[in-house]
Amino acid sequence: MHYLDTPIEFLKGVGPLRAGLLRKEAGISTFADLLSFYPFRYIDRSKFYKINEVSGEMPYVQIRGTISGIKLHGERRTTRMTALLSDDTGELELVWFRGFKWLKDQFKSGVEYIVFGKPTLFGRRINIAHPEVEPVTPVALNQLSSMQAVYNSSEQLRAKGLDSKGIGRLVKTLLPLALPHIGETLPKTVLQALKLPGRQDSLLAIHFPSDAGTLKKAVARLKFEELFFIQLSLLRSRQLRLEKTGGHVFPSIGRLFNAFYHETLSFSLTGAQKRVLKEIRSDTLSGKQMNRLLQGDVGSGKTVVAVMSMLMALDNGFQACLMAPTEILAFQHYESVSTMLSGLGVTVGLLTGSTRSARRRETLQQLMEGSLQLLIGTHALIEDVVKFEQLGMVVIDEQHRFGVAQRARLWAKSKVPPHVLVMTATPIPRTLAMTLFGDLDVSVIDELPPGRKPIKTIHQYDSNRLKVFGFMREQIKKGRQVYVVYPLIQESETLDLKDLTDGYESIVREFPLPDYGVSIVHGKMKPSDKDYEMQRFVRGETQIMVATTVIEVGIDVPNATVMVIESAERFGLSQLHQLRGRVGRGGDQSYCILMTGSELSGDARKRVGGLVSTNDGFQIAEMDLQLRGPGDIQGTQQSGLPDLKLADLTKDEAILKAARHYARDLLERDPSLSSDENRPVARQLKHLFPDKIFWSRIS
Ligand code: ADP
Ligand code: MG
Repeated sequence: MHYLDTPIEFLKGVGPLRAGLLRKEAGISTFADLLSFYPFRYIDRSKFYKINEVSGEMPYVQIRGTISGIKLHGERRTTRMTALLSDDTGELELVWFRGFKWLKDQFKSGVEYIVFGKPTLFGRRINIAHPEVEPVTPVALNQLSSMQAVYNSSEQLRAKGLDSKGIGRLVKTLLPLALPHIGETLPKTVLQALKLPGRQDSLLAIHFPSDAGTLKKAVARLKFEELFFIQLSLLRSRQLRLEKTGGHVFPSIGRLFNAFYHETLSFSLTGAQKRVLKEIRSDTLSGKQMNRLLQGDVGSGKTVVAVMSMLMALDNGFQACLMAPTEILAFQHYESVSTMLSGLGVTVGLLTGSTRSARRRETLQQLMEGSLQLLIGTHALIEDVVKFEQLGMVVIDEQHRFGVAQRARLWAKSKVPPHVLVMTATPIPRTLAMTLFGDLDVSVIDELPPGRKPIKTIHQYDSNRLKVFGFMREQIKKGRQVYVVYPLIQESETLDLKDLTDGYESIVREFPLPDYGVSIVHGKMKPSDKDYEMQRFVRGETQIMVATTVIEVGIDVPNATVMVIESAERFGLSQLHQLRGRVGRGGDQSYCILMTGSELSGDARKRVGGLVSTNDGFQIAEMDLQLRGPGDIQGTQQSGLPDLKLADLTKDEAILKAARHYARDLLERDPSLSSDENRPVARQLKHLFPDKIFWSRIS
């Protein structure tokens, strides 16, 4: 066993009890874990404040002074002990809520103490609760550093003496013992090229920095290391997939593709669509399995690309399937794809949870025989009973909504895995994409079909509702249609539903029959009712669609030009952007109206303002990342975003790019990392990622 894998229990000063707590509360099981339990900030312990400089807002202060007037408070039992700390500028109160017996006799009058703690304004006086106190001695003064590490602790750890200081003591015990066992993990060439400090120096400096410059370099190096190994494993796993997994070859562009392209398609493809089709084409010729992520903003025309990719499979005697996240979407895809392909004699089927059993049996039978060429559906497609004769291409729409395990099951459907195209309309910030999907190939449609007028986005307070109704009337008079969307957030589903139905009723009152028709759609309706309402709107029989976010993705009604979002402050940025993407799909000027109350939180204001300021999904994704942090971006939780200790994907894009660059460079020169020089790199990679499972690989 490597020294650093020694259980933390065996470190002097730990023992079984504290070891258990460290594991449970801080995830520290071994020596190595403690070394990488990095401080979350540093405080300047070399500076002393005068009492008259101290205010309740200061995080921590250190004061030199004398202690007097110790008092115990409480009726039968002491509940609190106070003392006065004085210097030549004034006095403040120190207070303790436990440990009285021991503390009471600690402080001697006339002795000067160093007092350290968090000042709080209590009434009109400032006090410091549970300060650290030690007598002023030359040794004590000498040990005060300008950068003292602060570690995260917890109530339970503190109760066993493992507050920040206690943890610092453990690190101090461990470091000198561990240093000789800490080997370099980064290649020499990289260290030299980037002038990064060594691993030993960096670990020492991050726990006990001598100055800010050294600390900065140490942190940069450790962040780089963290990101470098993630990138290395992603790229290595992509490499392995390409080496090991064969893919179907589609040698010919055939009748269906050509007929569709030359005869059916009523518009010419954008440059971006053509480029992506070429990328997919070359994947399907390579003999390797395609694993491609297709990113494109709402309305950028991903569906056509998906259909044409599936035709490539069909032309070569394979079947294809298209999987959508909801029944409504699956049905809409089914309708539009059937229409698109109607002249070509392609057999298209639909399979969802609500497909009747007779129909289902028939569909499954045809699928197995191969007489059904293209299947569209929901996650019903991945059930084991769904067997294809020869599945060549899988398209997954809006992949964020599919769990990883679900996607994995698609693979099992044929001996040679089908090509997989994953489409997402939620642009993913670059840094996240690089980390989450670093082993996928990524295509981007970064161009909207021509003739689109940018959507105008307007923020309105609820008090202006009548004005908004007036605007809706104007648009409807011009023959346009309107969405009105209400939030539906799980925790308060019934309340939200009431908002929605109240809103629906007031809109029906404002827009009465026979001049107006209003549809309503929400998640609690029976699928058949939902469908009925949706279809009425799609056919233009109703002018207003009142809905929850079920219409967020995919619905395509080019005649709809107004999207009114109620309680817009309750939606996330990406979601707002998705909703907005439901309009602006035809040639007419479209509008998105964000309704909010008059009191907005700072973040809500930023979201609303952000949406008003740009239509660019990628910019919005970046804003979302900055506002919410990587963990909360839609879909990242289930996608296996690695747990980063130091690096921050919202701030460290430059380091991430460097890490990816050097990782790729290394693998190009030594694909299996087998050279002597790279052996430590390989060892560390294996140590960090022993099972080599990458979630995105199986998407
Ligand atoms: P996405 O799925 O990316 O949001 P869609 O594929 O639904 O976008 O396309 C949005 C609309 O734009 C559809 O009505 C589609 O027919 C149309 N469209 C797609 N590509 C083009 C193009 N190159 N030129 C004109 N219209 C297009
Ligand atoms: Mg779409």
